[in-house]
Amino acid sequence: MKVFNTLSRQKEEFVPLQEGKVSMYVCGPTVYNLIHIGNARPMIVFDTARRYMEHKGYAVNYVSNFTDVDDKIIKKANEEGVEPSVISERYIEECKKDMKALNVKEATTHPKATEEIGGMIDMIQTLIDKDHAYVAQDGTVYYKTRSFKEYGKLSHKNLDDLRSGGRSLLVSGEDQKQDPLDFVLWKPKKEGEPYWESPWCEGRPGWHIECSVMSKKYLGEEIDIHAGGEDLIFPHHENEIAQSEAANGKEFAKYWLHNGFLNIDNKKMSKSLGNFFTVRDISEKYDLQVLRFFMLSAHYRSPLNFSADLMEAAKNGLDRIVTSVANLNYLLENAADGEAAEKEQTLLKEAEGYITKFDEAMDDDFNTADAVSAIFELVKFANTNASGASSKAFIQALKDEIVMLSDICGLIVDKKEEILDTEIEALIQERQEARKAKNFARADEIRDTLAAQGIILEDTREGVKWKRA
Ligand SMILES: [Zn+2]
Repeated sequence: MKVFNTLSRQKEEFVPLQEGKVSMYVCGPTVYNLIHIGNARPMIVFDTARRYMEHKGYAVNYVSNFTDVDDKIIKKANEEGVEPSVISERYIEECKKDMKALNVKEATTHPKATEEIGGMIDMIQTLIDKDHAYVAQDGTVYYKTRSFKEYGKLSHKNLDDLRSGGRSLLVSGEDQKQDPLDFVLWKPKKEGEPYWESPWCEGRPGWHIECSVMSKKYLGEEIDIHAGGEDLIFPHHENEIAQSEAANGKEFAKYWLHNGFLNIDNKKMSKSLGNFFTVRDISEKYDLQVLRFFMLSAHYRSPLNFSADLMEAAKNGLDRIVTSVANLNYLLENAADGEAAEKEQTLLKEAEGYITKFDEAMDDDFNTADAVSAIFELVKFANTNASGASSKAFIQALKDEIVMLSDICGLIVDKKEEILDTEIEALIQERQEARKAKNFARADEIRDTLAAQGIILEDTREGVKWKRA
């Protein structure tokens, strides 16, 4: 398997640090609002990479953080007159709902910045002790960027070029920096902001330190893959490397993977242009499986253009696979039992070629665009060759192959596996009884089970109503 490493700007053979295991850190969202479709791209593409590696037999330890202390969260909290944690908790829950609907697997660990402050203070202290950081008079701790000789190795920027553009790196309130290139590790509290005790001042961490600390805590000092959107290469990931490698004295991550930008009708997505979409907006018009399919129709490193036409095309594409599987299910119900005939055996050998094609595409830096093409070819092959005269074994084998490849992409194409209406009603009934008996734990558990299947419950005067998401 080859992956494109931003560090070397080359495709490299993937060799994990420990045989059979992959440690992977993906920078997660700042939780001050519903996630937008740009946030969804890294979630979907790196979830697909994870699924593929799991399919290949790797045990993947996948960590993705929630940034829950940030200016935007504080601003929103002040607007609503609530604690910042009310905002962050609300949007973590909403984000998890969207991830579920996008069929993005839960991370092995989803750490939150506010729960890791102690580790951040420890790492900042180590950086001060090693003379990679200093405390300014007002208590701000800055990272001494020039002290890290390899600074710029990820973004391929050189310190002198950065220096000449250094003015733009000066931020108001950071006037006690020794060098414009230095960045904040810890900053003093301001009125109305959450803060923590520290050896330097009551305050809060800068943004970059959290990922260095959480990655170390949950995955170790050296990890296999660090990933995120390409907008994070500089300065976020560059700063993470400077922090982690200076503090730990080891290479932070072996492979750096970055997904390309998502544009809307060939323009940058922005609120001011009126082309800003949350994942929730899209869910009003489409099953979010369509959004997932759309994202996978391009290679993750390519820029991706979002438009109404392309979403329609994605919907039709996904429908083709779902319809083919439904057709195979129908044939299965009516097929005679029995082994695959000799001619069918030959055809199944041929069908394996599409699986090989899929694997080759995914082994080539997770080329989902070509992998999806291989699924389409397999679908076409199944549509052509499976008929009422086919054996059960033959139809089942074709169906299993389509479902397996789709599943690696996180696409649910076998609607038969979905929960039946009667099962839903039985669970709702049980939930009502649990509530009556004040067994709220069980009631919540049932609600979550249903939510996982995309069933939304609504309590009304007439009782509980439900719908499929
Ligand atoms: Zn990060």
